[in-house]
Amino acid sequence: MFRSEFQRDRDRIIHSGAFRRLVYKTQVFVNHEGDLYRTRLTHSLEVSQIARTIANALNLNETLVEAIALSHDLGHTPFGHAGQDALNWCMKDYGGFEHNLQSLRVVDQLESRYAEFDGLNLTYETREGILKHCSSRNAKDLGDIGRRFIERRQPGLEAQLADLADAIAYNHHDIDDGYRAGLLSFEQLSQVTILKKCLHKTKDKFSTISEKRLIHESLRQLVSYVINDLVVNTNTLIEELNPNSIDDIRNKKSYIAEFSENTKEEHEELKSFLRKNLYRHPAVQEMTNQAEKMVKDLFKEYMTDSSTLPTRFFSGLKESTDMKKARKIADYIAGMTDRFAIAEHERLL
Ligand code: MG
Repeated sequence: MFRSEFQRDRDRIIHSGAFRRLVYKTQVFVNHEGDLYRTRLTHSLEVSQIARTIANALNLNETLVEAIALSHDLGHTPFGHAGQDALNWCMKDYGGFEHNLQSLRVVDQLESRYAEFDGLNLTYETREGILKHCSSRNAKDLGDIGRRFIERRQPGLEAQLADLADAIAYNHHDIDDGYRAGLLSFEQLSQVTILKKCLHKTKDKFSTISEKRLIHESLRQLVSYVINDLVVNTNTLIEELNPNSIDDIRNKKSYIAEFSENTKEEHEELKSFLRKNLYRHPAVQEMTNQAEKMVKDLFKEYMTDSSTLPTRFFSGLKESTDMKKARKIADYIAGMTDRFAIAEHERLL
């Protein structure tokens, strides 16, 4: 009665079990490595905050973008991308594992809380935003929500925004976390074009500032800079297109929410800098290897002896096909927090 459809979506997401588990899931650093690092939960909050700012500036639906941002990572496995890659490997003979698709599975099927339906019964617009990417093989089975991946069309503007806000958020906070962890040095950071600009600007204004504050202040500027660029450029693109309906946005070959050419390049440079220097850093790589092993061990163990699974998952599994069993196990593992996966691994192996 008091809420819009999108407000109801957002509230159901916040009240879901999968949302609460995000607090104990890795973004880049495993949850127990330190209390100050981002987790999937704080990452999702930062994405939401950035996306809402942009939505407001562009007169888009702030609540819709918030709902998408808060739910975009609900299907993420424990241990970040390492966990997802390992689970995809385990599932290679059973249809694979994609975390975006898993997020949709969580809100469409796996949350079991409501009397009248499985999942959260969210609107099409929120679900469309959650399914950021999808292989055409899986898209075929998804009905109208998967069609755009086959027809190569775009999602609504709020979904496009949430996608970009995700990248803005992790580019910014992974630098912050990587620097705090001592894995990225000041010298390295000052070689990235977009960062170099912000660092110089800050240094010019505050010449006696400490290195830590210099970096924080520059990162702050970096976020403002890319948000501003995105708002201005998207506004221009919307004006050029002059859409009459949502279909005009959806039928485009590419996003209407987009950075300017120059910023897009700088943003990409920053992304590849992080890939090379942080995500593939030996210290992160070591965690990655351990995490992959843990996920693979768990999957193998459950497949071999499904009586080790809790009864609510185990019941009926004995008689079901390997295909169904594997999917159930993937759902179970994907739902785990880092610490639960570690404890399960210790218990079973
Ligand atoms: Mg994300």
